[in-house]
Amino acid sequence: MPKKLLVTLIQRLGVWLQPLCVVLHTIGSFRVTSLPRLVRLLLCAPAPLLAAMACNVSTEPPATLQVRLSTPIPTPAPAVRPTSTPPVGIANVRPVDPAILALMDEVQNDRLMFALSSLTAMQTRHVLSAKDDPQRGIGAARDWLLAQFDRIQRAHPDRNIDVWTQPVVFEWRRFEVRSENIVAVFPGQDVGGGVIVIGAHYDSVGADQFDGISPAPGANDNASGVAALLEIAHIMAHSPHRATLVFVAFTAEESGRQGSIAFVRDYLQAQNPPIAIRGMINLDTLGSERGANRQRDPRTLRLFSAEPNESSSRAFARQVALAVNLYAADVNLVMQSAEERTGRWGDQQSFSEAGYASARLIQGLEDPNRQHSPNDNLDNIQLDYLMRVTRATLAAVAMLADGPSAPVPNAIRPSDDAPGLMTFTWAPMSGVAGYLIALRRTPSLYYDQILTVVPGNASSLTWDGFGNFHVLSIAAIDAQGRVGAFSPELSIASLIRR
Ligand SMILES: [Zn+2]
Repeated sequence: MPKKLLVTLIQRLGVWLQPLCVVLHTIGSFRVTSLPRLVRLLLCAPAPLLAAMACNVSTEPPATLQVRLSTPIPTPAPAVRPTSTPPVGIANVRPVDPAILALMDEVQNDRLMFALSSLTAMQTRHVLSAKDDPQRGIGAARDWLLAQFDRIQRAHPDRNIDVWTQPVVFEWRRFEVRSENIVAVFPGQDVGGGVIVIGAHYDSVGADQFDGISPAPGANDNASGVAALLEIAHIMAHSPHRATLVFVAFTAEESGRQGSIAFVRDYLQAQNPPIAIRGMINLDTLGSERGANRQRDPRTLRLFSAEPNESSSRAFARQVALAVNLYAADVNLVMQSAEERTGRWGDQQSFSEAGYASARLIQGLEDPNRQHSPNDNLDNIQLDYLMRVTRATLAAVAMLADGPSAPVPNAIRPSDDAPGLMTFTWAPMSGVAGYLIALRRTPSLYYDQILTVVPGNASSLTWDGFGNFHVLSIAAIDAQGRVGAFSPELSIASLIRR
């Protein structure tokens, strides 16, 4: 019998038996059935076993792990703190920079709460709400955000932070909308460091899309994302960074993401030459672990990125996922195979449409009874959850902001001194402590395997496992243990042909 068929059978059985068991147990516990206990036991006992098997069996052969040769050898990396069960894809990688862990410890819940309560107190931040009321409406929100970024700028005069508002004007039905993005640019120290954009929309919407008067507190959607944005900006301002960081509070996401479209078109693309960013992280709806029907998921954080699986957005998302997995053991980051939830949109799409890599972070569960309604108030926030995902996001931003630049892959050729093995070579870099080689099969959302290569003066790896994968990417690790930018993912077949 073909192994694949057997595996499928086991998986199906496991999937079918689990709900059946829940039903049987429920019926049993209410004692409304005469189903003999033995029958229930016989039906249910194999379910967990089959479910476990369904999760573990695979038709794919395991990756060849042993490296049967001389130099350099993929080594187990140093231990990560805090420890966790490694997620699929990074089981073999543990380079961690203590400085990033220290940054994560700086996240403060009182600052997050201050942002949440200040923004929700404006009652609505709808794009058609008041522009000049100091207490209520989107104008008050704009002024408050500008004041927060100004405060960060004044506290760190040596960072040369530039804070400004960008006008956003558009037609929406019969309305002419005039609003503003608020932008803070933290110039990087290294011309080769590139630009990372971190964004979150500050406008809100209620049940009626065109109602600028009724309450639309938008605590979770998206004062939570803005609170995280400000907190990350606040902490990243404490020290200089290699990359330029651009923090943007977008207007008009709820009216067709007009704010982010204007930012890409009138700012990034309007420069000569256009600003080439390394990637954009969208923070939208990060404040609640609750779903409908009292479901709770305090660990999961979803990451959406544009298809296909080979897109620059997906490759960027994999780097964000790697950072979260390395540094935030209390967050379960789940990569999604789509750019958005079905029928929804987010500001990251304004970037990917223009050819920029982007990805969106959003909480694991959603409660449709609270979204876009007066019920999206502070009761809809679990501060512990927001703290956790803010720390995880900060780790990703910090890793992207300061690691070494991407190494340049060379080729994969038959090894000169180890018959039957292949040698992957890259351009050596100075001042680095090692390299990560990330390998992936075509359909995998995550890296399937990551090899750590030391020492830093290595420029090749001879191995018999390359043929088990389809694409490869390489990053350098600095002396502090920080992983840098990954090279573009290259097909292993094309590297062999070089
Ligand atoms: Zn939103």
